[in-house]
Amino acid sequence: MIVFDGVTKKYPDGTVAVHDLTLEAPTGKITVLVGPSGCGKTTSLRMVNRMIEPSSGTISLDGKDTGRMKASELRRGIGYVIQHAGLFPNRTVLDNVETVPRLVGMGKKETRDRAMQLLEQVGLGADYAKRYPSQLSGGQQQRVGVARALAADPPVMLMDEPFSAVDPVVRDQLQDEFLRLQDDLGKTIIFVTHDIDEAIKMGDQVAVMRVGGYLAQLAEPAYLLAH
Ligand code: ADP
Ligand code: ADP
Repeated sequence: MIVFDGVTKKYPDGTVAVHDLTLEAPTGKITVLVGPSGCGKTTSLRMVNRMIEPSSGTISLDGKDTGRMKASELRRGIGYVIQHAGLFPNRTVLDNVETVPRLVGMGKKETRDRAMQLLEQVGLGADYAKRYPSQLSGGQQQRVGVARALAADPPVMLMDEPFSAVDPVVRDQLQDEFLRLQDDLGKTIIFVTHDIDEAIKMGDQVAVMRVGGYLAQLAEPAYLLAH
């Protein structure tokens, strides 16, 4: 479980991006943070893996303060997917997926087997392993981004608008496929989007954020539809 306890982030220029956020993201579930641009979604997400340091408050992972975890522990334990995949352009698909396992010292054969298996799981397969990111469509790049984030088998995934940059048909496909994958994987996920439809579709629970402060955490996304 990921717990935000009274977390505030004030940037050096005085902008308060996140104000007193208290939130629980249960183990094995998808918690969606939804809200308009500028409400602090990305800042909240990046504080979990300490890419951004909170100004006050704590964020814990299974009871452990992430502020006291080592960078290597955070890298292995938390996968991260962003909007435009963020793949290394001069590395092949396979190389991209193998990046994190190599960094954390996973064996060569295990790394290779795992990368190939993940490429299959995200619907790409061996044919794409030797391609470069520029030779893939946007949707395919996002699939590689998901495979790369899963490569070290982290219990936690942070997903920042992972499907927003592709057209609606592909987006729908990626959402469905990811939900099927998550059925098997049961990762603890925080998923950021500005799209309420996506929030309802993807979330086991949805936290609504607004500019100037966190609004509410709804355990049942269906509640949003019913009322
Ligand atoms: P969202 O992901 O919901 O769009 P962000 O977390 O990116 O929101 O940003 C929240 C607020 O913090 C915005 O007002 C944004 O302009 C501001 N902000 C983000 N990053 C910085 C930064 N490095 N320095 C100053 N202000 C920032
Ligand atoms: P998607 O539906 O996933 O967005 P596209 O319609 O963009 O896919 O692409 C369709 C096919 O064209 C894909 O199989 C992809 O491999 C191929 N393709 C897309 N962009 C490139 C590129 N820059 N170089 C080579 N093949 C590409």
